[in-house]
Amino acid sequence: MTQPPFLPFALPDIGEAEIAEVVDTLRSGWVTTGPKAARFERAFAQFLGDPGGDQALHCIAVNSATAGLHLAAEALGIGPGDEVVTTTHTFTATAEVVRYLGADVRLVDIDPATLNIDPAAVEAAITPRTKAIMPVHFAGLAADMDAIHALAARHGLPVIEDAAHALPTTCGGRLVGTLPSAATVFSFYANKTITTGEGGMLVTRDAQLAARAKLMRLHGMNRDAFDRFTAKVPSWYYEIVAPGYKYNLTDIAAALGLQQLPRAEAFRARREAIAAAYDAAFAGLPVVLPPRPPARDGAGDVHAWHLYVLRLADDAPITRDALIEQLFASGIGCSVHYIPLHLHPYWRDRYGLQPGQFPHSQRAYERMLSLPLYSRMTDDDVQRVAQAVRGALGAAPR
Ligand SMILES: *Cc1c(COP(=O)(O)O)cnc(C)c1O
Repeated sequence: MTQPPFLPFALPDIGEAEIAEVVDTLRSGWVTTGPKAARFERAFAQFLGDPGGDQALHCIAVNSATAGLHLAAEALGIGPGDEVVTTTHTFTATAEVVRYLGADVRLVDIDPATLNIDPAAVEAAITPRTKAIMPVHFAGLAADMDAIHALAARHGLPVIEDAAHALPTTCGGRLVGTLPSAATVFSFYANKTITTGEGGMLVTRDAQLAARAKLMRLHGMNRDAFDRFTAKVPSWYYEIVAPGYKYNLTDIAAALGLQQLPRAEAFRARREAIAAAYDAAFAGLPVVLPPRPPARDGAGDVHAWHLYVLRLADDAPITRDALIEQLFASGIGCSVHYIPLHLHPYWRDRYGLQPGQFPHSQRAYERMLSLPLYSRMTDDDVQRVAQAVRGALGAAPR
């Protein structure tokens, strides 16, 4: 029997509407940041239910979430001598932006039940040098933001949410992006819940933070300065007021975003259905199923289901590495989220970190794999993955 074609770990869901919108941009003559980037920012604010007024959400389109995290940290004035607390169980982008600014990272462990940053560990890591807290909504499940905002308020610290996995996610019934954090940053990288190829969105209610981030997004170039002296700014005039970056989102990318955003909830619903099918297929096997949002008044929060992270139990008949190898041999791609930062040479050596310092992240890492979870998967694809995992765990097909 010939094997079915390789099933990749992730695939973007790009339809004719996205293609037409990009073609329209190409024909328009305006390919870099312009009207579509501005429209995408407004659409994003609307998607989050922007209340306007003094609670208005400023949405700042950038060319990656990494750029957005960097801009947020820069706007908060983080620099040499400062520390930022974040989870070891994340992608390096979360932490590297702190080093761009010459500040230092304090990595902490996760809650083994949710795989999210442990608020008690955050509090224990706070020193007089701490300047911000950066939680990550791992896999699309909201971190314990009530606890994090409470301790941040106690210590007078701003929170920057890495929401790269969290579109759309709710926390206490409110969409991530609208919580009382200094800034929240979403990613539209190719494998994220919606994509612009490369791209991100920095969201904040803080008008000053927004102004600084917008300035630094494009070379530190200020066009408003002239306003103070004359009603009319000549089209050619600008002032450079800081050594800014080149972090603007192109209209070609924004065109994709304009057509992806209205599909975000349908994508999420499909991923949730796939996650439920996996859960059903793996019930009773020696595995730990992905955590669910805690129930609240009968209704749970929304999980974005960016990732389906399965963990092997102690009595599983196969190692994680062997399971991944076996899945690849049957033509199924999978991944691991994440190799914790404390195991990477750069972070390990800079801070002299040991695996035993982060026992929950370490243990989860050694037993976890991420299965394919994307809207383009057919029901047959889902069953193919489910049966391959069941088979590898010694269970009969069903
Ligand atoms: C993808 C990702 C990022 C970086 O996003 P980019 O848009 O690729 O810069 C940051 N943090 C986490 C947790 C991610 O998964």
